Amino acid sequence: MSETHDVQITPGMQEYIDRNNVYLAERAKYIEETVKKWKFDTIAVHGLYSVTDALKDYQGAIIEPIFMSTSQAYTDSDEMAAALAYKIPTWCYSRIANPSTYYYEWTLALLEGYGFDGTTSCCSTSSGMSAIMTAVQPFLRVIKSAGEPRNFVATAQCYGGTFQQFTVRLMQERNIECRWVKDATNIEEWAAKIDKNTRFLYGELPSNPQLGFFDIQAVADLAHSHNLPLICDSTVATPVLLRPICHGADIVVQSVTKSLSSSGFGICGAVIARKNLVTNIDDAQLKEDFSLSVKYLQNRDFGPNLHPLQAVMALNDMRTIRSKMDLMSRSSEKVAAFLAEHPGVESVQYLGLENHPLHDLAKKYMWLVDAEYDDQYNRPINRYGHLLSFCVKGGVEKTRKVFDNLQRIWRATDLGRIKSVATIPAISTHQQQGEEGRALAGIPGNMIRLCVGAEHPMDIIADLDQALHAAK
Ligand SMILES: *Cc1c(COP(=O)(O)O)cnc(C)c1O
Repeated sequence: MSETHDVQITPGMQEYIDRNNVYLAERAKYIEETVKKWKFDTIAVHGLYSVTDALKDYQGAIIEPIFMSTSQAYTDSDEMAAALAYKIPTWCYSRIANPSTYYYEWTLALLEGYGFDGTTSCCSTSSGMSAIMTAVQPFLRVIKSAGEPRNFVATAQCYGGTFQQFTVRLMQERNIECRWVKDATNIEEWAAKIDKNTRFLYGELPSNPQLGFFDIQAVADLAHSHNLPLICDSTVATPVLLRPICHGADIVVQSVTKSLSSSGFGICGAVIARKNLVTNIDDAQLKEDFSLSVKYLQNRDFGPNLHPLQAVMALNDMRTIRSKMDLMSRSSEKVAAFLAEHPGVESVQYLGLENHPLHDLAKKYMWLVDAEYDDQYNRPINRYGHLLSFCVKGGVEKTRKVFDNLQRIWRATDLGRIKSVATIPAISTHQQQGEEGRALAGIPGNMIRLCVGAEHPMDIIADLDQALHAAK
């Protein structure tokens, strides 16, 4: 992995390179012949951290060690030169790489690529927002021959922070046009917004909080027919319910902060990409291994790296992600059904409700991974996640009262937690973008976003019921 200059390889460096090539070949074999044959839960529990690794390098520690160290020491100048030229695997300096973030990256690459007939890799980031920045920046570089101005096409229904990054940081401050797709289910609308200056397509699904959805395969095909990549934010689904790369997407961004690490200990993110992705940018390394390229070059220079302590805490959360997403999805179905019948509720938005306009489309894509191997089910099962929203009858004032009356459900601008959390998007996550931006994204003032946790669903329902009644 190098940017411009070619490094002179000395015989001493070559010895290190040869030795490491043996190691890389063994690792590739282990992944292909062992890890890729495991079921999802096994990958989530072990990732790439093996007994062999533990005994060889980590004194047998059964949990991935937290490498709280800034940098790596080298045996001699040959090893150092080979490492810093990225000719051998290295973690050199924790802004660039670190053993703890390495295991985090491999677990996510394998989970997001589960069932994909190809190879995926991952670059860890300090947050979901930095994952989005990491994923989009490489495509926005100035290319004299490609023509300016640059633009990209993105779903208008997206996370408030994404809206800010695209509208303020890219459009207003850097004159890079974001063309919003209002109806993401309409392929014609996507197609009409692409021209010769388009760099990528971007879609969030299911979107936070409106649960927008689109036909990934159709949008990926459209992107590829223009030699463009499709980037998906699939935070709300997690790889337990949806793996966009299996349906043609090139890159996935995850706010691992959310459901993937449901404990809520801290902020973290990831970019996962398939090898040999599609792009009109002339950069062989980027195409060949996007995640490694951004990790070793772009992010080395921008520095949005993940802390090793947070990496291991998130890894620990991810080990049980499948059963947690199943449980919280099932509870969400019950809560959504309760709210849909409640006289104080105007409407409920949950992809699992049959009357949701996007239910059929979501049903095509959202499946509980490995349900056919689960002796509780023994067949494929649709699951729709634990995010829903509902609009309160009686306007904005009444909505605030209902919200203020919640006892067990926490009032916080958070989601994906093991604890139920609610927010009013118009005054929190989607406050900065103003009335117009909210109208574009479809965020009414009487909407409460609810993310159902792992409490018993009867207790969540009881809390909602008393809050709706007390607000009369
Ligand atoms: C929270 C969120 C982000 C941003 O992630 P952070 O980890 O908070 O930076 C991006 N996309 C979606 C869908 C989110 O919910």
